Parts: sequence; C-alpha cells; structure tokens
Amino acid sequence: MEKIDAVIVGGGLSGLACAYKLAEAGMQVIVLERGDFSGSKNVTGGRIYLGPIMSIVGDMFKDAPFERRISRERWTLMGDDNSISIDFTGDRYKKTNNSYTVLRATFDRWLADRLIEKGVFVIPKYRVDDLLWDGNQVVGVKAGDEDIFANVVIAADGVLSFMAEKAGLKARMKPKNYALGIKEIIELSEEKINDRFNVDINEGCAHLFIGEVTKGMFGGGFLYTNKKSVSLGIVVGIGALMEMTPTIEVHTLMNAFKGRYEIERLIYGGELVEYSAHIIPETGYRNISKLFGNGIIVTGDAAGFALNMGVTVRGMEFAIASGIFAAETVISAKTANDFSEKTLSLYENKLKDSFVLKDLSTFRKLPDFLENRALFTLYPKLLPDILEKIMFIGESPKEKIGKQLWAEVKASGILSMKTLKDIISIKDI
Ligand SMILES: Cc1cc2nc3c(=O)[nH]c(=O)nc-3n(C[C@H](O)[C@H](O)[C@H](O)COP(=O)(O)OP(=O)(O)OC[C@H]3O[C@@H](n4cnc5c(N)ncnc54)[C@H](O)[C@@H]3O)c2cc1C
Repeated sequence: MEKIDAVIVGGGLSGLACAYKLAEAGMQVIVLERGDFSGSKNVTGGRIYLGPIMSIVGDMFKDAPFERRISRERWTLMGDDNSISIDFTGDRYKKTNNSYTVLRATFDRWLADRLIEKGVFVIPKYRVDDLLWDGNQVVGVKAGDEDIFANVVIAADGVLSFMAEKAGLKARMKPKNYALGIKEIIELSEEKINDRFNVDINEGCAHLFIGEVTKGMFGGGFLYTNKKSVSLGIVVGIGALMEMTPTIEVHTLMNAFKGRYEIERLIYGGELVEYSAHIIPETGYRNISKLFGNGIIVTGDAAGFALNMGVTVRGMEFAIASGIFAAETVISAKTANDFSEKTLSLYENKLKDSFVLKDLSTFRKLPDFLENRALFTLYPKLLPDILEKIMFIGESPKEKIGKQLWAEVKASGILSMKTLKDIISIKDI
C-alpha cells in the first residue's frame, strides 16, 4: 500500500500548523477538513496570544490577517441591574502584550491558502469516518469509500475528537467537562469601535464579564473588538446549564446580555453578520487524553489543550504549539523509520518541556476553584451593590461611608467561614 508521511484530520489551527511545519520539512501531508473551508466550523472568542509561540512558529504568521492588537483589558462584575468595571491599559503593556483578536473564518482560511501555495493538499468537505489499522498500528484513515494510508495520523479534529476516541486514547467525557460558547459577530465602523472602546486604529479591547451575564451559572461573557466588528458572546458550563431550574436556553441569556445597558450602547447600530456555537473543553489538565499511540498523535482541542484562566480563555496557542510539536515528532520518526508509540512519545516530552503542559499543570486546580458558585453569584453582585449604595445621594442625610460599607458587608453574608475558605483557596490556583 502507498503511504504518505502524514494525514491530518481537521483543518483548524492545530492541524494547519502541523501541516505547515511538515510541508516546510518537505514531507508529504494531506489535511482533511469536513467544513466547507478551513475556518467555516471553527469558533473562538477570540484573542490569540502569540507570546508563548513566537519562538516556534517561524514565518507562519507573516502578513497574517490579525484584527487588532489588544491594548485595553476590561473586566466587568455584573450585578442584577448594575455593574463595576475595571479598565486596564498601559504604555508598556501596549508594546509588550503580544495578543491579537482574530476572526477564524478569515484567519484559518488564510493559513490554509498559504499551505495550498506550498503544495499541501488541504481538502475541504471531506469528513473522516474511521481509522485504518494494521494490527495495533494506525495506518491511515477511512472517509466514505476511500482509504488513505499514512505513516502517522494526526487527530486534530477538535474538542469531541472521534479519532482519539476510536484510537482508544480518549474516554467519552461527561457533559460537565464541557462548556458551551455562543457568539455573534456584529459589524460596526472602525471609527465607532475606536470611539466606543477608547482605542486607536489597530488597537483593540478585550472585555470579559462575570456574574448576572450567566444568571449566576459557571461561565461568563466576552466582547472583543475586531477591525470593523465586535465578537460578542457567552460561555456557560454545560453541567451548570443542565442543573439550572427553571431551565434556561443559552440564546435567552445572550439576548438578555445584549439588552443590558452596558452592552446595548456598545453595539448600537451594528449589524449581526455571523452567529456560531461551539463546545469548549473545560476541565484542563485532569482530562487531557493519552497523547499518542502507534501511528497516531492527538493535538489541540482534541487532546483537551484549553485553559480557562477565569480572566481569559486560552486554546489557540496550545493548538498551534501542539500541532508544531506533532510535526517535529513525525519528522524525527521518519528519520528513525519508526512510527510506533515508542518513537512518537517524543511528542509528549516536547509538550512537557513547553508552556503547553507546564501552564496546564500550573493551573490544574483552577477548574475546581471555578466550580464555586459564589464566584458567579455572591461576589460579582456584591461590589456593584455596595458601590451603588455609597454613590447614591437621596433625600435622607448620608451615613459615614465606613459605616455604610460595614453595614452592607455584614448584610451580604460575606463574613463567613465559606468566604475565608474561598480566600485561602486562591493560593492554590
Ligand atoms: C466560544 C469560544 C471562545 C473561545 N475563546 C478563545 C480565546 O479567546 N482565545 C483562545 O486562545 N482560545 C479560545 N477558545 C478556544 C479555541 O478556539 C480552541 O482551543 C481552538 O480553536 C482549538 O483549535 P483546534 O485546531 O484544536 O480545533 P478546531 O478549531 O475545533 O478544529 C478542528 C477541525 O477539525 C474538523 N473536523 C472535526 N471532525 C472531523 C472529521 N471527522 N473529519 C474532518 N474534519 C473534522 C472541524 O471541522 C474543525 O475544523 C474559545 C473557544 C470557544 C468555543
């Protein structure tokens, strides 16, 4: 049977990054993507952090269609009908923060086109159904009636990775291991974005929301500025959604979010041009799949490489880095002419030596910390409520600020052993 060097299942960032590095090394590689084109099925919030991958990407992103470089970070604690926002920017931060907003339909497609220029077959509308085996060695993939043989299969097929599951590398996970993200892209003129978000041309704002935005469920809202649009969305834990009584639809949450005073004014006059929904792996380090087998390597979301750090979501740079490490591993395996799991284990070593497994390991207790409902109910609502009372000047004479503050804190129930435990638990995250 005729074998190519690698077949990549999934033309998202992970699969494309892997193909890019393999093509650079002159390897024969095919990318199979079930969507109409790379980027058509891929969803992100989204900002990409280039910092961790700068030293390994080479010229992969030369002239890439990044939207805006993030120069302003905002966090909003959302109460029932009030909120407090922190707005951070800084001269040094603007220069050193290497993070950009991206639109995946544009970005992934651009990268796929670069690959095609390099002679790589990136084949869209091509869904892989199964793996091909020779004994206990994966030797290719099956799509419909066609068999494609390869020395190594790269499972870059995203969060639900049936390839990793079929290879026995990943157990089927529970709903609570995932969050559901929904997102709208709303077109606005460049000038309006610059004015409304207080940014210069090509500078961008990343704005995260916690609290009432998810009706107190695990998750939050996001708003990222692109060149001529904003990406607005919500992420909610599927477990929290299932436990919610009465049940609530995510699009209801989204509509309520868009109707909030804080948001309405930012998107006013904009036109909805894209709507998408996607699942995100949420349990971090604990649920990473087995990363390789005989003739197969798992990358990106398929392996579970996504990190919700509470104040930001990271997945794209993990996807790209793991794709690159997979490519380097395939190149070494070809030199050794050995595609067994013994040789492919190099992939895991590379991940362990890099930010991918180091960061995921550092933040491994975060998912447990984020299970605390008070983070989405009590705490985000308390501060806006207290501030509202302090700021309000009514008919009656005002009490001393300290006295009011103390009365509010006492009434909130925050002075409890539970809060003390929550504060102590911060040291673990
Ligand atoms: C709402 C939301 C917000 C997010 N925000 C951020 C953010 O701000 N920053 C960040 O870094 N990360 C963010 N992430 C995470 C990030 O988007 C992912 O980690 C990243 O897209 C993973 O890339 P990937 O290439 O591994 O998977 P994907 O981009 O999902 O690509 C997998 C590809 O495989 C294809 N495929 C699947 N099965 C098959 C098959 N059988 N045959 C052929 N093709 C197949 C799919 O069509 C898809 O194109 C967010 C995710 C979501 C959902």
